Amino acid sequence: MTRPSGSIKDGKILLERIQAALEEPDHARHPLRPLLEEVSAHILGQNQRMERLLRISDGYHLLEHNQSLTLAERCEKQLRRMEKLARISDQYQRNLWEVTETLRQAANQDSLTGLANRRFLMERLKDETQRATRKDTRLAIALMDVDHFKQINDRFGHEVGDVALCEIAGAVRQGVRRYDVYGRWGGEEFLLMLPDTRRDEAMMVLERIRQTISTLTVGEDDPIRLSASFGVTLLRSGEDVDEALKRADDALFEAKRAGRDRVVVGD
Ligand code: GH3
Ligand code: MG
Ligand code: MG
Repeated sequence: MTRPSGSIKDGKILLERIQAALEEPDHARHPLRPLLEEVSAHILGQNQRMERLLRISDGYHLLEHNQSLTLAERCEKQLRRMEKLARISDQYQRNLWEVTETLRQAANQDSLTGLANRRFLMERLKDETQRATRKDTRLAIALMDVDHFKQINDRFGHEVGDVALCEIAGAVRQGVRRYDVYGRWGGEEFLLMLPDTRRDEAMMVLERIRQTISTLTVGEDDPIRLSASFGVTLLRSGEDVDEALKRADDALFEAKRAGRDRVVVGD
């Protein structure tokens, strides 16, 4: 057996061996057991004391090293530490901003089509109505509903219906102008706000979207041609947005009644 060097490691090994011997069922009533338990507690205490001393000594060495640095060196060291902290903090803030931004976008976006969702549109309806009233400018509000969409789901399945909705969303995106606000109002309905827009200009934008949608088809054999109906109205001065929405909805109903695939203006 090699002679223990008195290190913490040796102390730990010895302690493990004594504890293993104490756990042996045969040694339960051994006359040396109380003495071994005392030795084991003593070694444990010694080890803990040695570890504490080592920690203090390490800290002392570091302190001594720091004290041997000149004031300039100590400042330099402190500066480097602060720069490191600032870098970590910058990165943390960037990550935080990215997470917040992703959450904000997700909260305002329709997950299927990627267009703005109803929540976002409701906010913007309020803003755009207030702006039009304040600046006394025109605001056209349009509702669009895909024609006979239930039939597409029934014939080709919900997944094909979803693809069709994405293509329709693409046609809306393509047809609007840079400052128009639009999105998915719900199901197969879309809403558009056209700021600073006269009646004939609104008709032109919506007709362009209607025509693009009418070129789309779904299904491989015996495909169905897609189409959509639109109801549009101009916000009246000082009017509540709900009244304008109701007028657009009535115009949409009229477009459906008159045979679908058309734009109807509600005055
Ligand atoms: P109309 O021309 O009168 O508007 O007829 P329609 O069939 O389009 O109208 P209806 O309101 O009867 O049906 C709308 C259908 O749209 C029913 C619903 O299952 C479907 N729909 C709504 N949201 C989604 C969706 O996210 N994905 C798919 N695939 N279908 C949807
Ligand atoms: Mg509908
Ligand atoms: Mg429909």
